Amino acid sequence: MKTSLYIGGQWKDASDGSSFPVIDPSNEQILAEVASATSVDVNEAIDVAYKAGKEWAKTSPRERADILMRSWELLNQRKQEIAEYIVKENGKALPDALSEAGYAIEFYRWYAEETVRNYGEILNSPSGDKKIMAIRQPIGLSVLVTPWNYPAAMATRKIAPAIGAGCSVILKPASDTPLTALLIADIMEQAGVPAGVVNVLPSRSSGAVVSQMLHDSRVRKLSFTGSTEVGRILLREASDCIVNCSMELGGNAPFLVFDDADINDAVAGAMIAKMRNGGEACTAANRFYVHKKVANEFSEKFAAAMQALKVGPGLDPTVQLGPMVNAQAIADISRLVNDAKDKGAEPLCGGEPIDAVGFYYPPTVLAKVNKDCSILKEEIFGPVAPIVTFEDDDEAIHAANDTEYGLISYLYTSNLSRGLKVSEKLDAGMIGLNRGMVSDPAAPFGGVKQSGLGREGSHDGLHEYMEKKYISLNW
Ligand code: NAP
Ligand code: MG
Repeated sequence: MKTSLYIGGQWKDASDGSSFPVIDPSNEQILAEVASATSVDVNEAIDVAYKAGKEWAKTSPRERADILMRSWELLNQRKQEIAEYIVKENGKALPDALSEAGYAIEFYRWYAEETVRNYGEILNSPSGDKKIMAIRQPIGLSVLVTPWNYPAAMATRKIAPAIGAGCSVILKPASDTPLTALLIADIMEQAGVPAGVVNVLPSRSSGAVVSQMLHDSRVRKLSFTGSTEVGRILLREASDCIVNCSMELGGNAPFLVFDDADINDAVAGAMIAKMRNGGEACTAANRFYVHKKVANEFSEKFAAAMQALKVGPGLDPTVQLGPMVNAQAIADISRLVNDAKDKGAEPLCGGEPIDAVGFYYPPTVLAKVNKDCSILKEEIFGPVAPIVTFEDDDEAIHAANDTEYGLISYLYTSNLSRGLKVSEKLDAGMIGLNRGMVSDPAAPFGGVKQSGLGREGSHDGLHEYMEKKYISLNW
């Protein structure tokens, strides 16, 4: 298991020898001590990444694509091991980890294919006095900062397009889950990624380390996935050197069930939208708005499916819901559920943390949730589904949009025309129309409002790591 910093192709201790523990949330035991990067390490990483990036940008797209494809092959061969790393440090159940690993690895194949399709534009100026040519070039040294909830996928969704575009990267993984990112870097080295092109700097001093990088004028790009709160801080930090930013931030996804929905389909979709990753997803359905006519049927069937889930340590192959990531997560979920219960919500299942070693919270469905509850306004990030009823479409759309977030909205209706009309009115970067899951490396992932800036995945994801250059010419 790699537990060091990865700088310029070397595995290194921190300059001051410091480290921090990574905890297994299923049993609260220390899994590993991981090196904690200091300011000296950051300087070294920027030096080597900057130099390596200059050479990397000169390689041909095909050369970079071949290395991405070779990475895809090697990562695929080690998919089970990657999934087990994810389970150990994040806690999620193995099926969720395998699904994450599959998604994470697929970004390499997708961007191997996209890397060789770097299209530009050429047009005549309206006055006819010149030609307008636009080409895309690598943006330069990119800093990637990722959260703990998808330790593999949030890293690969950035690394693959960045290096495909011709940029070198420094990845700062979340302190709760740095081990999977170090494993991925190790495998990429075996796939032929040159020293210094991919660097990984875990650190307990995240604020200081990232701030230092954003104030070095050689860093030209920040791609951040995490909370809106930290995103705001980093946008301010990035403003000093005008660093280009892509931000994938928090969500508060509504899940709308209309009176003409197929209720069994809606329940199946709700189980995915809510419970994928144990509810620890930015895309997790956070609020269920169900038409009054179908609310009882939906709630009963949904609660029955939730209650049937097996909870336990993620590596047990029969387990469907693993522990939450840490003790703070249990405290945060409990606060939101208790506030809802105090305001009259009725648990149809769950509703109290599980008293055991490890950070367990049971699948919970809350009926009769009052519209003023914090649980409808904040990210729950756990296996809890609050249900509110509605009577007409406009009321549902208004409630869905009544949030600072705009990452994703889900809706279920058997009338496709109604579904598309409502989709247009929902303030979200992504819509799940009769689907509980939307993620795909080929699709543009991202939010509007305070859920973020820019898109990952699709060809858009590659463009986030490129600058357009306009060449004005006559011929
Ligand atoms: P977080 O607290 O914002 O942390 C994200 C990353 O930022 C971690 O690497 C963290 O390092 C680092 N960080 C924290 N404070 C920092 C600071 N002051 N300066 C620089 N870096 C800092 O988020 P999280 O709790 O890990 O992840 C959950 C959040 O991510 C949720 O809000 C979720 O919605 C969001 N998310 C969004 C997407 C999306 O695509 N939109 C996907 C997944 C998750 P440490 O771990 O060392 O604190
Ligand atoms: Mg942990």
